[in-house]
Amino acid sequence: MAARPLVDSWGRVHDNLRISVTDRCNIRCFYCMPETDVHFVRRSEILDFEEIERFVRIAVTLGIRKLRVTGGEPLVRRDLAVLIRRLSTIPGIEDLALTTNGVLLPQLAAPLYEAGLRRINVHLDTIDRARFLEITRRDEIHKVLAGLEACKQLGYSKIKLNAVAVKHLVEPDIVPLARYARENGFEVRYIEFMPLDAQNLWDRSKVLLADEIIAILGREIAPLVPVPDPDPRAPASEYQFSDGIGRVGFIASVSRPFCLNCNRLRLTADGKLRYCLFAVEEDDVKTLLRSDASDEAIVALVRRNVAGKWEGHEINSTRFVAPPAAHVLDRRLGPA
Ligand code: SF4
Repeated sequence: MAARPLVDSWGRVHDNLRISVTDRCNIRCFYCMPETDVHFVRRSEILDFEEIERFVRIAVTLGIRKLRVTGGEPLVRRDLAVLIRRLSTIPGIEDLALTTNGVLLPQLAAPLYEAGLRRINVHLDTIDRARFLEITRRDEIHKVLAGLEACKQLGYSKIKLNAVAVKHLVEPDIVPLARYARENGFEVRYIEFMPLDAQNLWDRSKVLLADEIIAILGREIAPLVPVPDPDPRAPASEYQFSDGIGRVGFIASVSRPFCLNCNRLRLTADGKLRYCLFAVEEDDVKTLLRSDASDEAIVALVRRNVAGKWEGHEINSTRFVAPPAAHVLDRRLGPA
């Protein structure tokens, strides 16, 4: 008999798990982590592939169907293709995607594809070399663009570009990035800047809102027409250019929060379960995985975690508390 699904006290069904495989990264986006003096989790504290696979197999019995592999930067985790192959062959998993900064894609796009990966999001705020250097503090844009070309040639089914929309910085990039994506059959996901950075740089005046970007694109390229989303729980609101060339998505966590449709849970690299990107509390799965606890004990922890899930982030309320910096490193600035 199928186990009862993971439903929280707001009636949301959880079938989507984000798995962070490392807190480390090979670039230094200023709105994510400091350039120097970054303290990473000890390697011995990071879940190994067997532990991740065991957790996912248990989660599948609870209705998890979609996986997204993230970081830090997941491609810096050695032999990642081995984990991708393991996850892609677990019965019940219907969707497997990965979010990366793309710097290591030239050499890893093929082994990841062979391991079964078909959907990839590449974090790219600009195609301008100087601004890439300014944002990431690394002169690596050529590798990211070469990696995207490799993914295209290999036939990845869905290639999306995650672009963080920081106001008074990326406005000059909005249109060139959209043109680049249209020319290559990629989809840009413009992500409203969220208060998640380790240095507390965020304030509302730095958020370039989805509506502002829609106006810029409509004026400079072609009007955008909303597209009904096949999965209303997906974080992005989708649009099509009226000339029929290309789509863009908006992850508008600040101006259009979508928490009431949230179906996501997160497993951190050091084995903590978090019901929300902004959660200030988490449950320790690793201790159970490393103490020969039964699957039932892990199921109970997951159910407890979901049962305690809050209504949503409180970015727009005075009650908002930014998650502790340690948690911040353990996530990719992907969709909320
Ligand atoms: S902010 Fe939290 S609750 Fe809201 S959609 Fe994101 S993960 Fe879900």
